Amino acid sequence: MTGILHSIQDWAVDFFSLDDLIKIVRSGDYSSLRTLKGILAMIGPLFPVLLVVELLMAGLYRKLKLIDYKISFFSYVLNLTIGRFISIAMVSYCIGLFSPHAIFKSTFTWYWFLYGYVIWEFSHFIYHFLAHKVRLLWCLHSTHHAPEQMNLAVSFSHFFLEAPYADFIRTGLCILLGVYPPLLFLIMFVDGFWGGMIHIGETLGRRARCGPFQRFIMTPSHHRVHHGRNPLYMDTNFCNLLNIWDRLFGTYQPETDEVPVEYGITRPMLSNSFLDAYFGEIILLARDVVHAPGLRNKFLYLIKPPGWSHTGNHKTASLMRRDYLKRKREP
Ligand SMILES: [Zn+2]
Ligand SMILES: [Zn+2]
Repeated sequence: MTGILHSIQDWAVDFFSLDDLIKIVRSGDYSSLRTLKGILAMIGPLFPVLLVVELLMAGLYRKLKLIDYKISFFSYVLNLTIGRFISIAMVSYCIGLFSPHAIFKSTFTWYWFLYGYVIWEFSHFIYHFLAHKVRLLWCLHSTHHAPEQMNLAVSFSHFFLEAPYADFIRTGLCILLGVYPPLLFLIMFVDGFWGGMIHIGETLGRRARCGPFQRFIMTPSHHRVHHGRNPLYMDTNFCNLLNIWDRLFGTYQPETDEVPVEYGITRPMLSNSFLDAYFGEIILLARDVVHAPGLRNKFLYLIKPPGWSHTGNHKTASLMRRDYLKRKREP
């Protein structure tokens, strides 16, 4: 019994990111709260606490449906037990692998932080863009898009192999482009925090457009658009905190009042099924590869965007969006 209680306590300390804060409280030296480490120790628990507040508020407004949290919950459990260890190993591996080939070395200063963040956001854009445009990678990423509601827990909904693949691209590129590893960890912390916050549900942030900051910040409203299966919204807003690369590459799409976001993916899904969210796209890809005529077509199914067909009858997100915009322009 004591063992179970200890495990629950360890999980709670880990989930609420309380480890560093507890150390500061135990040491009695609160001056460290003014240091970067202390500030990070205070920010860490903010997201999980907000998640609990969001749940409580939904309960208060009688909007809480636990089924809405099913896909995110099971994904979280799998990532807790497998995903995050592979991910940590991948980050360490990439730092060791790419550091000797870095084009230059930077240091831990505010201007290198800004440089590092722009590079990180670029590498995030590349990973995320490929995750939507290469069908094999979409099989990993689609789990994140499967939930048909938005709440903070959706940020946990990831296939367990997605983070290692994302980290290979993001860490690899940043290290090659000279981002100092301790600075990279700080950037990852900020990215992880904001990456969670942009999933805030309408219970806590109805419009969540962040006023004038939406000009350069990726707001929860922008990310809601990214989770939309509406033709106008599909495959847009790939950035995480700074929307500069979306604006530069033409994938920026603000939320419009005329088109309310419909969350989820376009194929018919077993509603709230964890297994379908996790393996559905893999099974469909395997079926297409098996039935495709010739080796070339089989290979193309792996690397072409979701919706590509060897028959030429493509239903990709880009085509659907283009058709929608064309129809809208027609009188
Ligand atoms: Zn995505
Ligand atoms: Zn998301």
